[in-house]
Amino acid sequence: NHDLDVTSAARNWRVDAAAAPTPAQVVGELFARDVLTLEELKARISKPEYGSLRATLERGERLDPRIADTVALAMKTWAMERGATHYTHWFQPLTGATAEKHDSFVSPNGDGLAIATFSGKELIQAEPDASSFPSGGLRATFEARGYTAWDPSSPAFIIRHANGATLCIPAVFASWTGEALDLKTPLLRSMEALNQAVTPVLRLFGASAGTRVVSTVGAEQEYFLIAEEYFYRRPDLVTTGRTLFGTRPPRGQELEDHYFGEIPDRVLSFMTDAEMQLYALGIPVKTRHKEVAPGQFEIAPIFETGNVAADHQQLLMQVLRNTARRYGLVCLMHEKPFAGVNGSGKHCNWSMGTDAGENLFEPGDTPHENLQFLFFCAAVLKAVDEHQDLLRVSVAGASNDHRLGANEAPPAILSIFLGSELSDIFSRLESGQGGRGPEAGLLGLGSSVLPPIPRHAGDRNRTSPFAFTGNKFEFRAVGSSQSISFPITVLNTIVADAVQTLTTELEARLSRGLALDEAVGEIVRGTYSAHRRIVFGGDGYSAEWHREAEEERGLLNLRTSIDAIRHLNDEKNLRLFGRFGVLSERELAARQEILYDIYFKTVNIEGETTEAVAQTMILPAAVDYLVDLGQAGGSRAVRSTLAEVEAAADELYGALQLLREQNRALGGDEAHEKAHHVRDHVLPAMDGVRQAADRLEKLVADRHWPLPTYRQMLFVK
Ligand code: ADP
Ligand code: MG
Repeated sequence: NHDLDVTSAARNWRVDAAAAPTPAQVVGELFARDVLTLEELKARISKPEYGSLRATLERGERLDPRIADTVALAMKTWAMERGATHYTHWFQPLTGATAEKHDSFVSPNGDGLAIATFSGKELIQAEPDASSFPSGGLRATFEARGYTAWDPSSPAFIIRHANGATLCIPAVFASWTGEALDLKTPLLRSMEALNQAVTPVLRLFGASAGTRVVSTVGAEQEYFLIAEEYFYRRPDLVTTGRTLFGTRPPRGQELEDHYFGEIPDRVLSFMTDAEMQLYALGIPVKTRHKEVAPGQFEIAPIFETGNVAADHQQLLMQVLRNTARRYGLVCLMHEKPFAGVNGSGKHCNWSMGTDAGENLFEPGDTPHENLQFLFFCAAVLKAVDEHQDLLRVSVAGASNDHRLGANEAPPAILSIFLGSELSDIFSRLESGQGGRGPEAGLLGLGSSVLPPIPRHAGDRNRTSPFAFTGNKFEFRAVGSSQSISFPITVLNTIVADAVQTLTTELEARLSRGLALDEAVGEIVRGTYSAHRRIVFGGDGYSAEWHREAEEERGLLNLRTSIDAIRHLNDEKNLRLFGRFGVLSERELAARQEILYDIYFKTVNIEGETTEAVAQTMILPAAVDYLVDLGQAGGSRAVRSTLAEVEAAADELYGALQLLREQNRALGGDEAHEKAHHVRDHVLPAMDGVRQAADRLEKLVADRHWPLPTYRQMLFVK
């Protein structure tokens, strides 16, 4: 009995409360305990060595190989003091997961004994081979080896497990020909592109020389928790991360009593445990709460520099998954684990900041600050409008398709929500209104009447895929299971592009003798006019918006990921990524191939799993019940139930034959052909099977039903 199992799991999670750190310890000792911070490293190497390392970190200078040995020694000592027996280059292959190949510090010393070693060479570079990672053709077998290289911009850290710990050295992953085989390399390149593009215009606005610009990112992670017992009884959850069967629960989220509701003890204990580990890793998690759906929760950190945030996001998912198990729970990161129930996203809050800590999307107090603010906002409008396709590709994936465009998540159509105050300012600027009398100088609004731009604008539009939220933009289409690296790479690059173009226009006006405020005014006005179609403040879910967006505004509606992936290497995008050196033509082609391939594999596994579960679990349950009914005599209740079950079982059988055929067919040899095949034929066939199976779930006796139901899985406390 499934209900009884769960009670036992609920009883078995209790952990040693005495082992939990005190609040004072959390603040004083725990935070970043397992991170090799610069402070920590500084104390362990000489001053000149530290200076040389900083030059590498801050100015991107090549690391002096002589100091690599010293740094490696310091790292090894630090890690061993914390119980590490192994080290690994920790990297982000194109699968979207993280990868590690551990090597022990232990080396034989030749006398039958062993010593601990870790050299500068091993720190800087490793050759994990790793030939099974997708490379999209970038690694022909004759140039097969891939290597990882230390990324000193992200600190090394320790991952603990029950029997010890491992030193993790953040790394990039590339082919011998120098092509990026990972998500991190282009992200780092895009950070540099953004810096290069934004600093010149900041100088025009008066920033001091040497100012650097980074993107800042805070990603809100949504996830589900279900009891472990249920998980293992659902082959669909185990192999695909989502339920391929199941009728929606009697008490769905319609009641919305879950959102921000009280958090059950077991879940809160899990969250706290996970947070302590995240603190130890220096991950500044801040917020936790229940989400809209039953069994759904959210955790959000304080924002950090883009590439560090991306590393931390991957670690956060890993820690949540691992920790849940200690509480008899399984953490589901899939975008749509339960049909008919709210899905999970990962809102990516994105902004640009200077190394002095200035947020470039923070409206200022002075008209001058607001000039700069409006200039950058205009650049974002331009970037998002011109590269709707890229933003859509950056969140592509079979699992996210169940969310985007469904009636609860942002639609697949990109648009920007500005909030009423900012929209108002832009439209007044455009129409030249707002100026009062002859003083109407600045931006045509008159400096004295330039409306103060409200900080943290109050109104939120939850249906918008891309929203200005007071001092940052929130990209909401990112899926809960995804790496945020590519979405940030795209954001950085498209904004770099728009800023650069607008800067050229600005410089041209200035050299014609226009004052800065007039010149910026013209550019903001012109950019808004040209890209106003991307601004939308209404209901993004409505049918009316879909019609208006496509027919009147000509916005892209790339409904499925397959529609979007096609655009990745359009001429426009090749030029864009090439110009900033973020991704070469070959690197882009490889990524497109991999996106198709992963899409195909994901749906292919789902198709096969649907077939197996329907054939070996659901059909037999229906047959067993038919046997029971056949022996139950001829009452009206029995006869009519039997007829209904028989009809549904036949329907299931028929749908199953169709699915079987589609699972065998491939549609072609190329990755894109296979991806199209599974989208157009396998997904609909799976749907047919599911419909019949879900009908059976409502008919077949509970004692025969082989799968834990939504009701059971979603309402665990
Ligand atoms: P709310 O959206 O409810 O106002 P916050 O403003 O605190 O909440 O932010 C939500 C998320 O946005 C958090 O992860 C936060 O770290 C992130 N965030 C806040 N400011 C920035 C910024 N300048 N750049 C990137 N992310 C940010
Ligand atoms: Mg949220």
